[in-house]
Amino acid sequence: MIETIKVGPLATNCYIVYDDKSKEAIVIDPGYEDDDIVEFIEKNELKLKYIYLTHCHFDHIEGANWLKNKFDAKVLTYFAEEENMKDSNVNLSKMMMGDPLLVKPDKLMFENDEIEVGSITFRVMHTPGHTSGSSALYDGENLFSGDTVFKDTFGRTDFPTGNMHEMIKTVDRLLTLPSTTKVFPGHNEATVIGEIRPLE
Ligand SMILES: [Zn+2]
Repeated sequence: MIETIKVGPLATNCYIVYDDKSKEAIVIDPGYEDDDIVEFIEKNELKLKYIYLTHCHFDHIEGANWLKNKFDAKVLTYFAEEENMKDSNVNLSKMMMGDPLLVKPDKLMFENDEIEVGSITFRVMHTPGHTSGSSALYDGENLFSGDTVFKDTFGRTDFPTGNMHEMIKTVDRLLTLPSTTKVFPGHNEATVIGEIRPLE
């Protein structure tokens, strides 16, 4: 089950993915302290196990500490993004919010690590390009891509640690997933792998 809540001034897609039977849940990119996230979790009596951050940008992590303290969930991110998350220049919080925003992950993930949420198993994929430690979660049917690929376009590579060459390689790799894989991006509407074009 996937619930999308648009949060914050940049309308970041915050995803609540949960297993209806066990009620275990993961929140992907709580980009703002939005009470709708808490309300959804409480209304559906979900047990929030993890908070996954696809990358360090302020509009994807701002609600992480707040949500973690409410539900005692573990904050996860890709290991190569930890330093970026602690750097208010790289996570863009200094520029965009005025105040530095710091999120310290509880557990660092590596390529192919698995995350279990009830009967759902996610695999971690390193997807550098938008930032050096960007990552996606893949459960065999759905890809939560952060700001790497969107409907009809792909993520910017001109922010700190962004890299166009890496982005091209990452998109090529995502295109090896089945074409029917649903893509849930960090902003805008969902799409499928089959609609994404390689970068040149
Ligand atoms: Zn971003």
